[in-house]
Amino acid sequence: METKKPFKVCVVGGGLSGLAAAYLIREKGREEGIPIEVMLLESESRTGGKIGTIAKEGYLGEIGPNGFLDNKPYTLDLCRRMGVEGNLLRSNDSSRKRFIFSGGRLWNLPEDPVSFMMSDMLSIGGRIRIVSEFFVPPKKDDEDETLADFVRRRLGDEALDKLVGPMASGVFAGNPENMSLGACFPRIHVLEEKYGGLIRGMLALRKEAAKRGESGPKSAGPGGVLTSFPKGTAELIEAIASRLGDSILTSAPARRLETARGDQSPRYTLFFGEGENGDETEADALVLAVPAYASAALLRDLDPGIAATMDTIPYAAMAVVHLGYETKALPSPPDGFGFLIPKSEGRRALGALWASSIFNGRAPEGHVLLTVMLGGASDPFTPRLDEEDLIEVARQELEITMGIKDAPAFSTVLKWEKAIPQYTFGHLARVESIEKRLTGHPGLFLTGNAWRGVGINDCVAAGERVAGQVLYYLKEGPKA
Ligand SMILES: Cc1cc2nc3c(=O)[nH]c(=O)nc-3n(C[C@H](O)[C@H](O)[C@H](O)COP(=O)(O)OP(=O)(O)OC[C@H]3O[C@@H](n4cnc5c(N)ncnc54)[C@H](O)[C@@H]3O)c2cc1C
Repeated sequence: METKKPFKVCVVGGGLSGLAAAYLIREKGREEGIPIEVMLLESESRTGGKIGTIAKEGYLGEIGPNGFLDNKPYTLDLCRRMGVEGNLLRSNDSSRKRFIFSGGRLWNLPEDPVSFMMSDMLSIGGRIRIVSEFFVPPKKDDEDETLADFVRRRLGDEALDKLVGPMASGVFAGNPENMSLGACFPRIHVLEEKYGGLIRGMLALRKEAAKRGESGPKSAGPGGVLTSFPKGTAELIEAIASRLGDSILTSAPARRLETARGDQSPRYTLFFGEGENGDETEADALVLAVPAYASAALLRDLDPGIAATMDTIPYAAMAVVHLGYETKALPSPPDGFGFLIPKSEGRRALGALWASSIFNGRAPEGHVLLTVMLGGASDPFTPRLDEEDLIEVARQELEITMGIKDAPAFSTVLKWEKAIPQYTFGHLARVESIEKRLTGHPGLFLTGNAWRGVGINDCVAAGERVAGQVLYYLKEGPKA
């Protein structure tokens, strides 16, 4: 009996987005009885992209994210699919405590949204300005707005400086003056659009929740519990990579892309690898799961217009510095998530995570691991320092903010020249125009953190979405 030749799907990029997409395309194909051969190309010698864990001298430090939030189903579902949900590690309850460094001291920010906005850290004038948000009329047009303009308009300068600015740097390493509100914080945007304001929105949500017998929004932060694995986020990457097995080619950068003419299948020829290891492969469908600038480079010949739009998406540089200390070197042991620093403080750090307080097992007995974040959209210079200087900058920042005078017992540094894509003013309109133009290239798909969300959950959700699109395309053909 003749067996049907499988479709060939090539995924470019072996970060979480590419891994999730490749795995889900293969699995969903199996479930639907569509034979698919998946190939994943990764330019580096390891998969994971921004996700990975360094285990050294009894410390366990993350090169990027510390975990994902469990208030969205996507990553949890993926873990369940792979049978690794039993290994998940929830962050300690005390890590719900978050701090801001302001006026020379750390302030514990209340979780409750109303108390959060009324924190003693703010001046009386600043607090009155926040309360008067209730009376600020909603914006009339539906044009995009920068995060800074939105917060100034609704909550005032002090809330921008001390509350929202640090939050923006904590999630996006971004500068609120050019971040797009709609792209970065769609839920906040909707509160104004739907309910007329933030306070009105929160009150309405509480009322709606009470009707359903629930308690409504509990947290001013992102909500959910930060979740990882005993051996760090690398466990998530290893779980997906081991299931994809030899479908993954590492040290195989995609270089160039050609299309077949007309409706011919396979539609794409992809050239990858370097020098004598250079190779090519044909694909019925191609998924680009690489940063915007890398997608632009691959598409430049095929569609210079789409490449030019992709090139406008900037990236913030970051340095992640892990410092380990004997617990007794600290004036008080860290107890909480860590702290963020308003820009007006003039410090070089964006903030620090108290890694060993968030998750157990991140430092040897009697020691703590602290992770200092440097750089971001407003400071492209610091991450360019050499490693020794970065360690010294991070040490000084901890001395000033936490009063730690001793030299660290352990240090390690990770530099990201292009760490996090910046969703600047007008981002969603740019993404929509890219997606529209993409319809002119049947069989070509985009996923990854450059377009519609940078969090781990967003990347997995985008992987699921693109897997559905690829399967639909393979079933229905190019005219779908
Ligand atoms: C410091 C830091 C802290 C973070 N903290 C959190 C957090 O706590 N929680 C959270 O949810 N998110 C966090 N994030 C965000 C999250 O980690 C990222 O958005 C996500 O991991 C991005 O995954 P990705 O696969 O889309 O992109 P990437 O991880 O950038 O992967 C892209 C991959 O494509 C490869 N590639 C590039 N060009 C080519 C080519 N031509 N051919 C083949 N391969 C190519 C790259 O080598 C890379 O492996 C953080 C990010 C950083 C940097």
